[in-house]
Amino acid sequence: MKNLSVGIDVGGTFTKIGLVDPKGEVLRSEQIPTEPSKGPAHFIRRAAAIVKAWNFGSVGLGLAGGVDAKTGTLLFVPNLKGWTGFSFKKAFSKSLGVPVTVDNDANAAVWGGYVVALKRKPRTVVGVTLGTGVGGGLVIDGRLHRGATGSAGEIGHLTLELDGPLCHCGRRGCLEAYAGTYAIQRLAKELMRRPPSPLTPKAVADAARDGDRGARKVWDTVGTRLGQGLAGVILVLNPDAVLLLGGVARAGKLVLDPVRRVFAAQPFREPFENLDLSAPVARDWGVVGAALLSRERRG
Ligand SMILES: [Zn+2]
Repeated sequence: MKNLSVGIDVGGTFTKIGLVDPKGEVLRSEQIPTEPSKGPAHFIRRAAAIVKAWNFGSVGLGLAGGVDAKTGTLLFVPNLKGWTGFSFKKAFSKSLGVPVTVDNDANAAVWGGYVVALKRKPRTVVGVTLGTGVGGGLVIDGRLHRGATGSAGEIGHLTLELDGPLCHCGRRGCLEAYAGTYAIQRLAKELMRRPPSPLTPKAVADAARDGDRGARKVWDTVGTRLGQGLAGVILVLNPDAVLLLGGVARAGKLVLDPVRRVFAAQPFREPFENLDLSAPVARDWGVVGAALLSRERRG
């Protein structure tokens, strides 16, 4: 069916591929190892082999890193070395014969949340993807805002403390260095008497729900830092809604409550008072959003 689209969320280790309907329901899904060292052409062949048997009218790719959405080329990427400069748009549309869009993975996820969870009702939305890294995306006046060079919305790298912990980007004190998976692991080792093994955000969330005080402190720290970072963005953009997406957002109230406390304590009250803050975690937003973006001519 030509009204279906394929969404491909390319991670550093695994890639998720889904067949998505216009409402954002995932009808089929597959996961393959990304195998970055074998190069982008090899990756395209394997992904194309999976979707060839499906019926669809467009393909959307979400890639972690800087993407030129016009040409569908990767500009820079931390965890897919050797893939920079490759035109995914050209290679994929040639092998599949359908229109292909390429965007940053956080932009794709936020677009998915905007269309499906918020039903495009608010006009201005700030979205954050919480995972190994902390990504962000902005919808301004109903459209994805990419900025002059495609890097708009890097909320994870707002500096909260000049001398704070080291971030994966090489700078210190970024929001991601307090809220990324690796930061949650570091905080759990510092604050919990017996950190869970394996040390995952889910295990730390389970421990907090079971009453572990150290684990509760971890989530208070993560949520407070996230709230502080978001507060700055909210003062700049005055959005209608804020979306928390990604695996770590499954902590739900544990992370939402401290964010709300930070918002409630803001001296400029108006931008925070009627703000719709939510963590819709029911879907794979990276896959859904990439597929839905491919349906929009210009996002
Ligand atoms: Zn950073």
